[in-house]
Amino acid sequence: MNAECGMNPPAFGHPLEKGAEGTEQKKGESIMELSKLSLERLEGVDERLKAVVIECAARCKFPFNVSEGLRTVEKQREYVRQGKSRTMNSKHLTGKAVDLYPLSMDRKLVDWSRFEELADLMFQVASDQGTDIVWGGNWKTFVDKCHFELK
Ligand SMILES: [Zn+2]
Repeated sequence: MNAECGMNPPAFGHPLEKGAEGTEQKKGESIMELSKLSLERLEGVDERLKAVVIECAARCKFPFNVSEGLRTVEKQREYVRQGKSRTMNSKHLTGKAVDLYPLSMDRKLVDWSRFEELADLMFQVASDQGTDIVWGGNWKTFVDKCHFELK
């Protein structure tokens, strides 16, 4: 079982919970650019995966956020206890995984209809960059649409 994170965004610093995602966009910035908060969440993430996410944001027709990247062992233990993750072997622990949520154009809501679209673009960009990625949306036992990791 390689499930990494649940489909329960509020527990992952969901923009609705934080409420600040929309306000972080500076004037003049493209709406598709990653917010400062999302960029901060890419800290410690493997450079190859980070490059895919950043390029994906530049090419994406809608905004998305990074809800989590590098994760501590303590946090992982907590997620397993809460049933949000089923493994202590998560690639989040080594910075080789990210969780991405497509957002509405005003960046205030998660757009649940666009995970597949986002995944398609992530695969396209990864392929262009010669990086192999895995999407949690393709997992059979614990579908995890927000989750992307290096192969
Ligand atoms: Zn994840």
